[in-house]
Amino acid sequence: MERGGRAFHARILRREVLERGTLKYEAMTGLPDRLRESLSRDLPVLGLVELARSPSKDGTCKLLLGLAEGEGSKAQSIETVHIPPLSRKAQSGATLCVSTQVGCPVGCPFCASGKAGLVRNLRADEILEQYLHGRALGAIARSVVMGIGEPLLNFDALLAALTIVHKEMGIGARKITVSSVGFPERVRRAALARPPFQLAISLHTAFDEERAALVPAMAKTPIEEVLSAGDFWFETTGREVTYEVVLLAGLNDTLQHAEELGRRLAGRRATVNLIPFNPVVDGDFQRPEGQRVDEFRELVENAGVVARVRWSRGLESDAACGQLRLRN
Ligand code: SF4
Repeated sequence: MERGGRAFHARILRREVLERGTLKYEAMTGLPDRLRESLSRDLPVLGLVELARSPSKDGTCKLLLGLAEGEGSKAQSIETVHIPPLSRKAQSGATLCVSTQVGCPVGCPFCASGKAGLVRNLRADEILEQYLHGRALGAIARSVVMGIGEPLLNFDALLAALTIVHKEMGIGARKITVSSVGFPERVRRAALARPPFQLAISLHTAFDEERAALVPAMAKTPIEEVLSAGDFWFETTGREVTYEVVLLAGLNDTLQHAEELGRRLAGRRATVNLIPFNPVVDGDFQRPEGQRVDEFRELVENAGVVARVRWSRGLESDAACGQLRLRN
């Protein structure tokens, strides 16, 4: 360690930041005064800077975090969302939703994050730091990697960050869910690494042509190949895949859609999460009525598939994924 620090000082520093959530050098009393002064003068604890905060009435808080970019390159930002439990009894801490890329190459038409394409992958430290910023808003019990980006296209950095989140920040592997559009070879590679997370695959529809429009980067990948990669994930890790469907009114929420989804998933070790779309002001897509969502769920369950409805929280402006970043 430069500045006269010793190797064990680096271990103290790491423990303070990752295990105890100390983000100020002056509070790290296990370090010598001179070292703390020198570090606080020219090495910020966190590299990501909070640029904006967008709180919702239900307690959900979205952070816009600025990334330090190299000389000459434009400063970029990402979003992280802190979602406190609905009741104190239900859960011991919040859920944190994190991003893995700046922008996204997948291009789903209902998502603000994909509108400008991919800028770059986040580094492992940039993924990890979102947890440190998030924890400063309140204890984190679970995490969903469902923010900006396609996580499995940045798997090495994701795995490095989540290994630390799991081992040093103490978030259980069953409490971390990574949501991907399910590139088959990426799902298989991830399964073989036995990573510390659960897998969710955003299917959105069980019809191939329609999926090509809703998940453009998967246009050439038949749904059956995605499902077979999901089966491989289960066989390899022993953890069931959750298939997610963002329900868009009048588009993929018909009863035929529900029946086809049930038919495709019947007999597989998987569950379905139905997520009524989180409407964006002036957007092209709408959220279905509650009754339609219930009918959809019942039809999927009639095929013997467990289905749950997940209503999004934080419906005020900028709540949809990528909105805040786009506005800035
Ligand atoms: S929904 Fe996810 S995969 Fe699709 S464009 Fe948005 S961030 Fe990318």
